[in-house]
Amino acid sequence: MDQAVIAVLPPSAYTQSKCQRCTNSKCCTYFTQAIDAPRSKQDFDHLLWQISHRGVQVYKDKSGWYLLINTSCAHLQPDGSCGVYETRPQICRDYTNDFCEFDAPAEEGFDLFFPDYEALLAYCKKRFKRWGA
Ligand code: SF4
Ligand code: SF4
Repeated sequence: MDQAVIAVLPPSAYTQSKCQRCTNSKCCTYFTQAIDAPRSKQDFDHLLWQISHRGVQVYKDKSGWYLLINTSCAHLQPDGSCGVYETRPQICRDYTNDFCEFDAPAEEGFDLFFPDYEALLAYCKKRFKRWGA
């Protein structure tokens, strides 16, 4: 998101150089989708199905529950620039690098993080005493 981000930033040398120094353009390699907070065994069973898909993770932060879909944007160029910079979606224009994945892993702000099926299953077994019943 390098150039896209710079366009909406305060004109600080630090924030501009940040994107230029960011080698993996993390912010263009995933998207998130808000979901209803899972409550019942059925809800978690459905979530287990979703997280079974490659690249899908789940987290909860102060805003609620989210799917984290790890897949790079098709417009991300090998050099880290945006291939549709002039017509990039609004969400990309609005994104700011004031504090982004370059500064700290997003996981640090999560209340709960399930990187894979096994982690979520372990949580289900702990949360529901009769999970397998
Ligand atoms: S992760 Fe942060 S520093 Fe890296 S390209 Fe995206 S906004 Fe810039
Ligand atoms: S369109 Fe894709 S590559 Fe361009 S800024 Fe947005 S997420 Fe990044």
